[in-house]
Parts: sequence; C-alpha cells; structure tokens
Amino acid sequence: MRMYDLIHAKKRGEALSPEGIHFWINGVVEGTVPAEQSSALLMAICWRGMTTEETLALTLAMRDSGSRMNLSSIPGIKVDKHSTGGVGDKTTLALGPIVAACGVPVAMFSGRGLGHTGGTVDKFEAIPGMRVELSEAEFLSSLKETGFANSAQTPSLCPADRVLYALRDITATVESIPLITASIMSKKMAGGSDALVLDVKCGVSAFMKNLDEANRLARSMVDVGKAHGMRIKALITRMEEPLGRCIGNTLEVLECLELLQGRGWETNLGQLTERLCAEMVVLGGQAKDLAEATMKVREAVRSGEAARRMEAFLKMHGADPAVVQSHHLLPQAPQTLDVKADASGSVQAIDGFQLGLIAMEMGAGRKSREDRIDPTVGMEVFAPVGSRVEVGHPLVRLHLSTMKGAELIEQRVKDCWQFGEAAQSPEWLLNTLE
Ligand code: URA
Repeated sequence: MRMYDLIHAKKRGEALSPEGIHFWINGVVEGTVPAEQSSALLMAICWRGMTTEETLALTLAMRDSGSRMNLSSIPGIKVDKHSTGGVGDKTTLALGPIVAACGVPVAMFSGRGLGHTGGTVDKFEAIPGMRVELSEAEFLSSLKETGFANSAQTPSLCPADRVLYALRDITATVESIPLITASIMSKKMAGGSDALVLDVKCGVSAFMKNLDEANRLARSMVDVGKAHGMRIKALITRMEEPLGRCIGNTLEVLECLELLQGRGWETNLGQLTERLCAEMVVLGGQAKDLAEATMKVREAVRSGEAARRMEAFLKMHGADPAVVQSHHLLPQAPQTLDVKADASGSVQAIDGFQLGLIAMEMGAGRKSREDRIDPTVGMEVFAPVGSRVEVGHPLVRLHLSTMKGAELIEQRVKDCWQFGEAAQSPEWLLNTLE
C-alpha cells in the first residue's frame, strides 16, 4: 500500500478502505508517513469528505493509536459528556458529581483551554491542591469511590490525534466535519465510556457558527457513535453570549459550587446543566425518561448528595474539600473594577467571543499552548441578554491582577453590549439529535 494512492483516490472523491486508513494512521504514529503526505490527505478529506463508514474507520484507527481505558471493573453504564467548547462553558464541574449522585458513573478525560475558550482541566486546577493528571489506577479509584473521575488527557491517549491536529492547525484543515468527528470521537471512545452526551455549541462564540454546520457535526458524531454501538445523544445549544455569569477559572469553579448548593439554576448555565445531567441519567439507565431524570437530578442537589460527591472527588484529587462549602478558601484576584452602563435599555446581545478574548488577554486563558494562566482573573457578568439596565448599572465586575491597562479593558467590555428596546432571554436549546 502507498500513501500516494490513498491521496490520489481521495483527491478523486473515492472512499478509502478501513485498511488504507489504518495504514495511514499507523504510519502517522510510527513516523513512517511524512507530514507532506498526511497534509495532502487531510486537505483532500476537507474537500471530498468521508462516508460514515470511513469516518468510523478513521475514528477507530485513531482510538487504537494509543492506550485505552478499561472501565469494565466498574459496574453500570459509564457515561461521558463532550462539549465542543465556548465562553463560560463550565458544566462538567457541576454535572460530574450530580450525575454520579444519581447512580450513573461519569468517566471523563478533559482538555486545557486555548484562545477564547476555556478548558475543564484549567478550571479544576484553579482549586488549590488539585491534581489533574491521574494514573489509570487513581482514575479507577476515583470512579469507584465517588462515581466521578476526571483527568487531563494523557499523552498515551490517541497520539495520532495530537500529530494530526498539529498538522491541521497549520494547513487550514481543522474545519472538516469527518476530521473533527474522528478527533473528538476517538478520544471519547479511548476513554472507555459506554454512553455519551454531546453538547454541540452553535454561534459566534463557538467553533460551529451556524445551525446548519452544528447540525451536520452533531449528525456525524451521533452516526459514528451509533455505528459503533454507543448510546449517544446530541444537544445543539446556543453559544453567542457567555454561558452563565462567570468567565475565568476560579470564578467558574465558584459558579459551579453555587449550583451544587442549589443556587443559579434559573440561568442559561443552570438550565443547560440540568438538561445535560438528565440526558446522562437517561442514557445511564437510571431513569425511564427526561421527566424522571430531572426529578432525580433536582433531588441529588437538594439532598446535598451531589455536594458530598464533589467533596469526596476533591479529596481523591488532593484538593481541600472544604472549598465546596467555604468559597472564600478559593484564591481571589487582588483587584476588582465594576464596568458600568453608559446608557439605559434592554440588553439585546453580548459579544461572547470578544469577552472570551478579553478574558484570555487578562490572563484567564492562553494565546498559545505554552502560556501560563492566572486562575484568579476573569469577569462576572451582571447584565445578561434580556435584562433591563439603567445608566450606572454594573454590566460586569472585572477581577484583575493589576489595574494597569484597566481603562482600555473597561471600554472594550462596554463595546460588547448591545442595547435596544424590549429584549427577551434567548432560547438556549436549538436542536436535539439521536
Ligand atoms: N476539538 C477536537 O478535539 N478536535 C477537533 O478536531 C476540533 C475540536
């Protein structure tokens, strides 16, 4: 078999065989396929696409390029969740302990943030003492004892994805539905769960900018999951303004701890978290439908069981469980500044993408993979879309490491708000697919 022939076939729009795809991915991992040939094939896939069978073969070849978690020692249907990422998206921190408290084991491998979006690992790492890189044995212990395990992706998980993603990044081949599908689903399958809930974000602050693109990505991931026998469901959710009140790692942890204490469930973050939890409880076989699952989710929070699971989870990861009840134990930024409205009106729109970039530049995120982040900086949004604001009303509280440059940040933040006559809270759930 020759890479030249695979590239030539895909260039003409032909389907690649599973053997051809395995030959390519093996060569990527062993270093026998040069970057030029992988790049050419990636570009041909971008233009010509892949069938579900090809995408599944690519997903499995990438999954098998490294180690895989074996969760068979844990009883029950293990459920995972994946979000395609957005600004203020912190649902994992709350849903892990909640779904675990409903009797469904949640096994997750998470990533770090890059650009305007944050990463779950960075958020967990904002909790003092928290170890985010677990050995396989530690991951299994956490899952056994607390019902929830979350670890940073290890280098041995899907090494082919790391090589290919780096090439895609520099060859303008990231935006391809089959390549995104295989990249995400290979990592999820290597994580070893039986079921998966997808949160495909849609809007200016997301990877998928419109509903058509988001639907196509969700369809592709659901089809690949189902073809492999996975229980899977996708929600397509709005990602224009930030999700919830906070952007920035410590602040986002705080907001999730508030959810575990029963506060904030009326916000877009609370509603999405509740729905994702309920979908996971149904897929995990602990409720017959969403209505029953939602009751269980609410009871897990009301009874304090979800908060207790979080405490146990933090202890397993080396962090102080007292932060769940005593939020002041989380480190705080040395400076705060309230950004106030210059005009009155109803909030029609907030540019979440710009706010994400501003937070990143303040130190909450990374421009490049090597950047260090400051967990304490970020912002709290006080005037969400649909709310009425008067002159002088605080739009945002900035949490800053220094007041240097604060005036410029203040103006840029103000420019993210659009005011008008009466506005409504927008619908956050755009579609579901299974
Ligand atoms: N996230 C991934 O993990 N892979 C992609 O290709 C795109 C987003």
